[in-house]
Amino acid sequence: MKAVRFHRYGGPEVLQYEDAPDPVRKGDEVLVRVKACALNRLDIWERIGPPLVKVDLPHISGSDVAGVVEEVSDSESEVKKGMEVMVNPGWGCGRCEECLSGRENRCRKFVKLGEQVDGGYAELVSVPAKNVLPKPERMDFAQAASVPLVFLTAYHMLVTRAAIQAGETVLVLGGGSGVGTAGIQIAKVFGANVIATAGNDAKLKRTVELGADFTINHSTQDVIQETKKYTAGRGADVVFEHPGKATWERSLKSAARGGRIVTCGATTGYDAVTDLRYLYSKEISVLGSFMGSGGELLRVLELFKQRRLRPVVDRTFPLQRAAEAQERMEKGEHFGKLVLTV
Ligand SMILES: [Zn+2]
Repeated sequence: MKAVRFHRYGGPEVLQYEDAPDPVRKGDEVLVRVKACALNRLDIWERIGPPLVKVDLPHISGSDVAGVVEEVSDSESEVKKGMEVMVNPGWGCGRCEECLSGRENRCRKFVKLGEQVDGGYAELVSVPAKNVLPKPERMDFAQAASVPLVFLTAYHMLVTRAAIQAGETVLVLGGGSGVGTAGIQIAKVFGANVIATAGNDAKLKRTVELGADFTINHSTQDVIQETKKYTAGRGADVVFEHPGKATWERSLKSAARGGRIVTCGATTGYDAVTDLRYLYSKEISVLGSFMGSGGELLRVLELFKQRRLRPVVDRTFPLQRAAEAQERMEKGEHFGKLVLTV
């Protein structure tokens, strides 16, 4: 098959469109012919390599896949050859306490497609049958690929970890990023007021189209002051964090007394400084969040079915131009998801 692989760590130039061995379907796995694969920040970290992330080389990135079933095991009854599907990008061992409690994202043997195993920057990918879900009819392949990881992550952050309540105010940092566009929409579905930040006014306008009630241009405005202004001095009940180092101090200062900061990442750096005085004196809770469960992804897809959420595709690139797509992500030019088409 054709795939985009890298044999050494480095810049976008190490990505090579080349022939690679077809993945071998094992046990109950399903072989999927990839039609679209969305980019995630993880893909760039993998390419840059240690100390951020270490993968086996050569490596094929890509966690978010939509495609057509090519081959299934004889014992498989639900998934059929020719089915149009999207893939839940994570799976656990299926046997530990966390997996059996529906929290496979906490499994010590958790596998993320495109990280521990080769992913979707390729013509074919092999995944467990239980991770294959029917593609929603109204979505094309690029839209379907744009959904799983960011919407699952945002749902787990806001609903499961932060337990958002109707009427609360959620500050969504990086509202134009993939996870930000998902966070805005999910917060609105659950009845929250949303403040969204972005680095330019064009992106802010689009966050309003997604439902944001108030916007802050973090390049020209003071996020803490503007958040306070909008909340009559209280601060945000929930801060939706993922930039990390560059925004962490602001997040602490923007949170209301008794507020929660929920974080799923650290795109600008993980070694943020926490001024503990804010943490204890304001009784702020810091909540870590990592992907989510298969059950949560089904909830998310139900919300898409009800047309209460919509996919946000920034732009598609043919697989051969994966390097160009990653460069666009690194420059922060995108709004929503960048998707490779195969
Ligand atoms: Zn497990």
